[in-house]
Amino acid sequence: MANRREMLGHAAGAVLAFIGCGLSPASAQAPRRRREVVVNGKRVRTVDVHAHCHVPEANALMGLKVQTPSLVISPERIEAMDAQGIDVEALSINPIFWYKAEPDLAGQVVKLQNEKLAEICAAQPDRFVGLASVALQHPDLAAEQLEYAVKQFGLRGALIGGSVNGEELSDPKFHPFWAKAEQLGALIFIHPQGTAELNASGRLKGNGVLDNVIGNPLETTIALSHLIFEGTLDAYPGLKICGAHAGGYLPSYAARSDQGCVTFPARCTKTLKKKPSEYLRQLYYDSMVFTPEGLRHLIAEVGASQIVLGTDYPFPWTTTAVDHILGTSGLSDEERVAILGGNAEKLLAVKPT
Ligand SMILES: [Zn+2]
Repeated sequence: MANRREMLGHAAGAVLAFIGCGLSPASAQAPRRRREVVVNGKRVRTVDVHAHCHVPEANALMGLKVQTPSLVISPERIEAMDAQGIDVEALSINPIFWYKAEPDLAGQVVKLQNEKLAEICAAQPDRFVGLASVALQHPDLAAEQLEYAVKQFGLRGALIGGSVNGEELSDPKFHPFWAKAEQLGALIFIHPQGTAELNASGRLKGNGVLDNVIGNPLETTIALSHLIFEGTLDAYPGLKICGAHAGGYLPSYAARSDQGCVTFPARCTKTLKKKPSEYLRQLYYDSMVFTPEGLRHLIAEVGASQIVLGTDYPFPWTTTAVDHILGTSGLSDEERVAILGGNAEKLLAVKPT
């Protein structure tokens, strides 16, 4: 249960949210007021680590149009952030459309996107930070792009897929990228691009959006598991990796990862430095588990210090990501503040206001 001070903190946030929604018909056209999130009487800066955008000019380079108009940065995005109590978004672009491009074209797409993201962030530094695009199908190029994006454009890390054209992120070919990410201290946000192999089999077709609701978390689960079991996290222990959608299924069933090599030792050929589940406490996760019980379990497995706010904007999975954190009982004020923004501020070096 939340203590009384916490409840007061929630109430303050809730009241501000209510006012912010507009109370009378006359205010229907008036701009929304910005929701200010408060915990125990103190204003908290919230940071959404999982927010997407597109750069139309870059899509055009690939002969593509932006299919979801709200992916393009516009005033509506700020209005949505204000309504939901999101102060800062870490903007990122899903890479699936350039992962098959040759180096020249992939280089152009990535350069354009990173430049544009840097412009957007520079124009509103109190609302946006950027996660770079990289052409991970060309690992050496991706390492260069990451370094350039961080050092020249001030981007804070990168978003990458959960695999690259069927190759696992733990493959030694990607080591140059991981080495650079570790060296830079850059956050790498692993975001699934679906599971093409399962789509091909047809097992995720039919009702229920299974290619997304199962395919995406499964992809992240596989990616993180390989990074653990193939020793990538031992080789690059300073990596800052955040798994989208709360790390997929991995934190839900972590104990089985520990038991596999106990049960079938002959099938385990590498010796890890830690128990597999212990690596979960050095990774980061967004908060997209939707229920208090889901968040409680995630915290129990990985620790509140590893969880960051995530909305998946503009895809309407949730408009209550902030309330999810405020409304989960059993958290201390410090834990709520950390998940709402404190953890992400550190990971993304969000500047003080
Ligand atoms: Zn997403």
